[in-house]
Amino acid sequence: MESTNDFVSRIVSRDPHGMTDTSRREFLRAAAALLVGMNLPQTSLAGEGQHGVGGSGQRVVVVIFGGVRRAETFSPGGLENIPHLSQDLLPRALFYPNAHNEGVTAHFNAISSILTGNWQRVDDWGKLAPTTPTLFEHFRKRLGAAQSDTWVVASNKALTSMIGASSASDYGSSYGANVVFPKQLMVAAVANALRAGRSGNMADRAKVETELESMLEAGNYEGLGWTVSDMADRLDPRVRDTIEQAITAFVHSGGPTSGDELTFLVSREVLRKFSPRLLVVIFSDVEVAHFGSYALHVGGIRTGDRLAYQLWQEIETNSEYKGKTTMVILPEFGRDPDGSTTNGFFNHRGDTESTRSTWMMTLGAAVDKPQIIERPVRHVDLCPTLAGLLGCPPMESQGARLTELRL
Ligand SMILES: [Zn+2]
Repeated sequence: MESTNDFVSRIVSRDPHGMTDTSRREFLRAAAALLVGMNLPQTSLAGEGQHGVGGSGQRVVVVIFGGVRRAETFSPGGLENIPHLSQDLLPRALFYPNAHNEGVTAHFNAISSILTGNWQRVDDWGKLAPTTPTLFEHFRKRLGAAQSDTWVVASNKALTSMIGASSASDYGSSYGANVVFPKQLMVAAVANALRAGRSGNMADRAKVETELESMLEAGNYEGLGWTVSDMADRLDPRVRDTIEQAITAFVHSGGPTSGDELTFLVSREVLRKFSPRLLVVIFSDVEVAHFGSYALHVGGIRTGDRLAYQLWQEIETNSEYKGKTTMVILPEFGRDPDGSTTNGFFNHRGDTESTRSTWMMTLGAAVDKPQIIERPVRHVDLCPTLAGLLGCPPMESQGARLTELRL
C-alpha cells in the first residue's frame, strides 16, 4: 500500500488529466452502494423487508430541486434546459404551472413546509425541527409504517437531520425518516478510514480532510460546511477495505463531482434495497447560483432534469414501484428577478413573483389523465394530498388536498 505522503500528494496535486466520465460514474455507483450499506438503520437491520401493513399500498416519491425560476424552466426560453421534464414527462403528467411558496424562501423552511403541510418559520439552517408533524411521522404513527419505509436523501447543505422529524409533542424522531446526506457520508468515510490508522501524522490527516471536503463540496454555497466528525462513527468496519478502494478511485477523479449525481445513485440504491413507501430526494446542484455563475446554475438545472427522469425510469422498471407509485417533482421556490437589488438569480430572498411562483409536476398512479391545471396551488397543499395517497387519515394542515389526484 502506498504511503500516506503519496496519498496526500496525489490529492493535493489534483491530477489535471482527471478521470473519464465513465470511470467517474462507475466510482459513484460503487460509492452509492457502499454509503447505503453503511447507513443501515438499526430497525432495518432487524426487520429489512418487513413493512408496516397499514395504508393504501401506494408509494410516493417526491423530487425537490433547489430554487429555479420559471424563466429558466417552464417558459419558452427555458424549455431547452429541461428536455426530459418538458418532452418525456409533461405529456403524461398532471401539471400545475402555478405552484406557490407563500412562506420563508430559505431552504430548510421551504422543505419543512412542503413536508409538513404548514408554513414553517424555524431556523433557516435547520437547528430547530419543524413544529408540526412531518408526513413521515404522520405515516409512521397513524399506519405503523417502519422507519425503513421513509427516507430523505439530500444534496442540500442547508438541511440537517432535523428535516426528518418535528418537535411536535407525541411525534418526533421515534417516528422520523432515515435522513441521508451522501456527500457528508463520503467525507465521514474518508475521515474514518484515515483515523483507522493509515495516517500517523495529524497534520497530513487534517490536510487530507480539508482537501477532500473541498473536492466533494466544490461549492460551499450559503456559507456552511459539512461536519466531518459527527457521522464518522457510523462507518461499518466491515466495509472499510472497500471504502478505501473507493477513496483511492475517488482521488484519481481529480475534480469536482456532481453532488446530485451521487444523491441520485444513493436514492436508487435505497429504492432497490429498502423499497420504501415514501422517499424524498432533494437535489441542489442548481444552488451553485449563489456563486454567481449563470452557466453552472443552468448546468445544475440540466442535471436535475436528467436525474429526475432517470428516477422515473427506475420507478417504471422496478417491480416494487411500477404501477403503484406517484412521483411529484417541484422546486423549493424560484429565484430573484434580474435587476433586483438582491443580485437576481444569485439569490431567493425577494418577495416577488419570480421568487415565489413556481410549478409542480405529478406522474404515475394518481394521475387519471394527463392535464394542465391552471388554478394556483400552494406548497402546503402537497402534504395532505400525499397523506391521502398513502392511505393516512387527514392531517392538520394549512393546505388543502389536491382533488385532481386520484386516491
Ligand atoms: Zn439557496
